[in-house]
Amino acid sequence: MVSEQRALHDVSDRSTQDIDPALDALFLDVDGTLIDIAQKPTEVVVPPSLIVLLKHLQTRFGGALAIITGRQINEVDRLFNPLRLTAAGVHGCEIRTRPDQTIEQQALTVSPANVAAISVIASRYPGVMIEPKGTGVAVHYRNVPHSAAELLGDLQSYFAGQNAQLVVAHGRMVFEILPTGFSKATAIEALSRRAPFAGRRPIMIGDDVGDLPAFDYARRAGGLALRVAGEHFPLEDSELVSPNAVRAFLDKLVSTTSNA
Ligand SMILES: [Mg+2]
Repeated sequence: MVSEQRALHDVSDRSTQDIDPALDALFLDVDGTLIDIAQKPTEVVVPPSLIVLLKHLQTRFGGALAIITGRQINEVDRLFNPLRLTAAGVHGCEIRTRPDQTIEQQALTVSPANVAAISVIASRYPGVMIEPKGTGVAVHYRNVPHSAAELLGDLQSYFAGQNAQLVVAHGRMVFEILPTGFSKATAIEALSRRAPFAGRRPIMIGDDVGDLPAFDYARRAGGLALRVAGEHFPLEDSELVSPNAVRAFLDKLVSTTSNA
């Protein structure tokens, strides 16, 4: 589409000039940012070219590239197999500080009793899917968006009464049950204390409300927040129009800075 090409052209021209692989660090959301959203999280499609691109970016940025996602890191590994990347999963509740390190769980696993309670609430809404993720639980309502408000009310009233350690966060057609005190910002902050991220300017790319704390962190640290259009950010408020545009932008970032 002409409009998409023009938007991509505009943003990539401006932002690739602003980004220096020797001085900056890339923090990338996955769903809705690197890959298109699917009806179910297990049904997403990863273009093989994306895995090659991420490998090149990882090298180009001296290892200062991390995946910052709501998925578990094991899921990220499955999607990008055989590539291993530095990553924060479940909104900062899991961190792998280098590609060859083990995954460190930062928060307690959600108790079986709480998972069961969430499952009971979800079962009242046919079409709602729950995804236990160890330190968190995702409640997907993409198939029944009209039930969102009522479902949220049920979840909030359960957790308000039961467990102050867990909160309900909103995402794209999903409610994330997460431990308090964790976010994509805490993930970037933790990684930014360590080599090769320390001292680099954070560049965060994301598409969702869960990326907002990371955007705030990146801006406060003198970096960039690049929004991807979708169900959360309207086109006119976004720097990148789609995951396809993000991949083209990152591709351009590798090719235009390779001789810098
Ligand atoms: Mg996303």
